[in-house]
Amino acid sequence: MLSSVIEAVAFDVNGTLVHIRTDEGMDEIFRAIGHVLTYSGIDLHRGEVRELYTRYLKEQQRDSAEEHPEFDAVAIFRRIVDEHATGYTRSMPAVKQEQLPLFLAELYRGASRRRLALYPYVRAVLDALHTRFPLAVVSDGQSAYARAELHQVGLLDYFDPIVVSGDHGFRKPDARMFELATTTLGVEPGQVLYVGNDMYRDVYGARAAGLPTVLFESDQGTRVYRDVQPDHTITDHRELLTLLGLPPLRPTRVGSDRGGDEQAVAACGGRHPLVVGQQVIEVLTDEERGSQVDGVQGAK
Ligand SMILES: [Mg+2]
Repeated sequence: MLSSVIEAVAFDVNGTLVHIRTDEGMDEIFRAIGHVLTYSGIDLHRGEVRELYTRYLKEQQRDSAEEHPEFDAVAIFRRIVDEHATGYTRSMPAVKQEQLPLFLAELYRGASRRRLALYPYVRAVLDALHTRFPLAVVSDGQSAYARAELHQVGLLDYFDPIVVSGDHGFRKPDARMFELATTTLGVEPGQVLYVGNDMYRDVYGARAAGLPTVLFESDQGTRVYRDVQPDHTITDHRELLTLLGLPPLRPTRVGSDRGGDEQAVAACGGRHPLVVGQQVIEVLTDEERGSQVDGVQGAK
């Protein structure tokens, strides 16, 4: 039985715990960045910003020695600033010059973000799991965004360690991503259950590193990769409690934390609520779910 061998649980974030959608191609993003740059003495048309961002990102990936390279958004903006700095740029206070690339990366992410919300029951299930297991994150993402987005949805404090690909220059399915988590947890890979939504990056990657896997069938991620199969597949996070030998969530009174999720599901008659904190902020139809894409770079 799975629960007898599992000592810790590690999660993917985007598409597994957090429903995120970004639109990174919009002209508005690059226009905003171009305009913000003028306040640092740099004059670039939005088309130039887009072209430079895209080119430098590709160059980073091309020049990486990694099989699965992760790019560095802050380094891209640092290069754009450095290569187009004027006397005005260099006359700015040092602290503004230092912070500008990170600020631009956050602006890019913030402007391109369309949706950031928890899937139903995530918080209640993590609360239950946390009483029994150490919890970790193994996520492909930018160092500049990953922890702040976990904080925004109220999940940052559940996990230790939080392994983010941007900190290391390589991404899943690189086995080292999973090894960083199991080593820090001090637990054998076979004792760490990994939960993710992508058959390639999550299930294939974690299995290659020796971790048992659960595929969360969300609206994002690669569904098929070769003949790879997870140990378990779930469509609702509450199924994790059963898999791990924990009691189911108790029905809760209206207005309580868990009641928020119960109400959300009931209120939308089988449709799919998205929950931030305890608030339902959006209800998607199946058709809408089907049309969504994970805009995170390289997500497919
Ligand atoms: Mg994912």
